[in-house]
Amino acid sequence: MLDSIKKIFSGQEEETGVTGTTGKPDIAREKSGELYEKAKKYFPGGVNSPVRAFKSVHGTPLFIEKGDGCFLWDADGNKFIDFCCSWGPLILGHNNAKIREKVTEVMQNGMSFGAPTALENELAELILSNNKLIQKIRFVSSGTEAVMSAIRLARGYTKRDKILKFEGCYHGHVDSLLVKAGSGLVTFGETSSAGVPKSFADETIVVSLNDRKAVEEAFEQFKDQIAAIIIEGVPANNGLLIQDKEFVHFLRDVSAKNNSLLIFDEVITGFRLGFEGAARYYDVKPDIITYGKIIGGGLPVGAYGASVEIMSSISPEGPVYQAGTLSGNPVAMAAGIAQLTELAKSGFYKDLNKKAEEFTDSIRRFTTAKNYKFKVFNIGSIFWFAFSEKDIKTAEEIDPASMEKFKIFHRELLNRGIYLGPSGYEVGFISAAHSKIELEKTKRAIFDSLDIVFRTAR
Ligand SMILES: *Cc1c(COP(=O)(O)O)cnc(C)c1O
Repeated sequence: MLDSIKKIFSGQEEETGVTGTTGKPDIAREKSGELYEKAKKYFPGGVNSPVRAFKSVHGTPLFIEKGDGCFLWDADGNKFIDFCCSWGPLILGHNNAKIREKVTEVMQNGMSFGAPTALENELAELILSNNKLIQKIRFVSSGTEAVMSAIRLARGYTKRDKILKFEGCYHGHVDSLLVKAGSGLVTFGETSSAGVPKSFADETIVVSLNDRKAVEEAFEQFKDQIAAIIIEGVPANNGLLIQDKEFVHFLRDVSAKNNSLLIFDEVITGFRLGFEGAARYYDVKPDIITYGKIIGGGLPVGAYGASVEIMSSISPEGPVYQAGTLSGNPVAMAAGIAQLTELAKSGFYKDLNKKAEEFTDSIRRFTTAKNYKFKVFNIGSIFWFAFSEKDIKTAEEIDPASMEKFKIFHRELLNRGIYLGPSGYEVGFISAAHSKIELEKTKRAIFDSLDIVFRTAR
């Protein structure tokens, strides 16, 4: 998603040309192509979210007709094993029967009331009884909304204005977080989107991941002004930038020492790495945690949670205003309940993570044996392929030139029936619906595609 901001909004995107011979003929895209031409008349860039436009990979976007289990079918009838999984929410795969049945059942009674329902209690109880890091929660309708509200809560609670974020972390399209680093160790951010006032960016300090000195300097320079540090549980929107435990604990300490809050944006990692997400993985207790994606079982749900004390600042209990016409929508709650009920079953994460571990390990063995400059990063069931030999922990360590190889790789994989998110900056997800058979098929497709990438683009 950051990729989309960088490349599409800045108008830097280039034609994705052919960079050598492909091993397999391209898949049919006639119907998708026609639909895309039509869509371009209706929507800016033909899409309702920028990365979907396939600007960083070969060809026009595929229009999807159907999903089932780990499979996707496009408008031309091509079938793919899907590793995008709607960008993370579908941890049980597409069209899961339990979710579908629960949603269908709840829908019989109407779609929305704008009044409390027992379903909200049910989902909250399911979450809070399995997550000891937060005591109260508020449901919203997207990850962006969750983060936007968490930032307002942090500012309202601390009575401070500034936010410290990290280069390479994406937090949705919240105005004050569409900000990138300027030059220098500690900088006021520069807006990364037109339409964000400079005065907003001035309240956001941007530093590099894994850089203690910069964080310390920010707290010195802006003493008693920083409301919160915000970081993705595991940064997974601009590559998979797995941070050291020590760095995350340092963030916890430095924010506490300065009476500022630590916000964990777990919109991707929440319920992906377990009910207690990356916070449990790092064994830290953030002050506010945001959720999205998996929490809604494929329907639009976000949430933020914190201690009883911090959450008491939220309206109508406290002075921080936050509301939503469709918040806690019964149909969306039903999907969340059905999905999280499955995830709460004993052994769910253990089995899923083991499958992901075996999958990534065997790709590593292959690329090591072949001496390819290729690295697989993974945590739980999230993985990222980088055309690099380095251990990448910061956004700055990703080589933009390596994305040329990803373009070829993406095309070869599509031609072999494997669907990855259409950008080399995006991570992939393994769901409970990916069986050993499909993962074996995928590995073979990856091996063949890598052979072609390294043959044609040395
Ligand atoms: C996806 C994502 C968001 C934004 O969520 P939307 O539902 O797309 O608004 C925010 N933060 C993180 C870490 C995300 O991965």
